[in-house]
Amino acid sequence: MQKPSASQIDTESGLGYIGRFAPSPTGPLHFGSLLAALASFLDARANQGKWLMRVEDLDPPREPAGSAELILQQLLDLGMDWDDEVLYQSSRLEAYEEVLHKLQDESLCYPCDCTRPQIREMGLVYNGSCRERGAPPEMPYALRLKTDALEIGFDDEIQGHFAQQLEVEVGDFVIRRKDELFAYQLAVVVDDELQNITHVVRGWDLLDSTPRQIYLQRVLNYRPMSYAHIPIIVDERGQKLSKQAFAPSIETDRASDAIYKALTFLGQAPPAELEKESAEAQLQWAIASWDIRAVAKVGSLPLN
Ligand SMILES: [Zn+2]
Repeated sequence: MQKPSASQIDTESGLGYIGRFAPSPTGPLHFGSLLAALASFLDARANQGKWLMRVEDLDPPREPAGSAELILQQLLDLGMDWDDEVLYQSSRLEAYEEVLHKLQDESLCYPCDCTRPQIREMGLVYNGSCRERGAPPEMPYALRLKTDALEIGFDDEIQGHFAQQLEVEVGDFVIRRKDELFAYQLAVVVDDELQNITHVVRGWDLLDSTPRQIYLQRVLNYRPMSYAHIPIIVDERGQKLSKQAFAPSIETDRASDAIYKALTFLGQAPPAELEKESAEAQLQWAIASWDIRAVAKVGSLPLN
């Protein structure tokens, strides 16, 4: 049987192509985050789609002031302009709360006050030990979504088929953290639905989260979407480029150098004569010749 293609998904929803870039504002755009931005931008534009912007600012202690504005300005300086208004997750707390209440009303989630050492003893897959607890504990607690043992699989446009049995491989997962912040898995699913996203193009480190997100979509009766996970960029120690690993900020006064290098990492083989062109000309070339199948089917690529 043929896998459902992206266009079939589009027909079902009647939405056309809607993609997005969803940075966490933990610091300026670096080469790793540029790659994810560029891949999602090119895939959207090459499919005559919309490219939406979502700032995932749900963890204030990890977000230096001004980071979101800086990332957005860097993207504009690079020539990647988005459609519609920027969606800030910090403005969406009521919507997440509402979904949480719905899941609680339907007894689909439950309080858990297990500690990190306890979970480590379980072998890192949460064993559901708080499922049958009666009243919520007095101590701060997380809320976990009940999972089942059915296999959840999907066909990633780059990485191929990927599947997990959540209950066995991941365990019931946190949708509201012990510190009362909404968990990434909940917010991303609620907002992909709100923004009518049809295509998710993002870093390979999130491949492993995708079955959880598909499961939550099904529980909430949301639309399915198509996924493509591009390789992440790692430094010489094999660590993902990140602000924590001191990845340098993209210098937008040398926008064309950054774009050319990113196109090379995305397997697009830009012609040598394009290297000296403007970032705008490079992006035009890249939209016209974008081939997602040329992106390397690996989890990570070394920067040097
Ligand atoms: Zn527990």
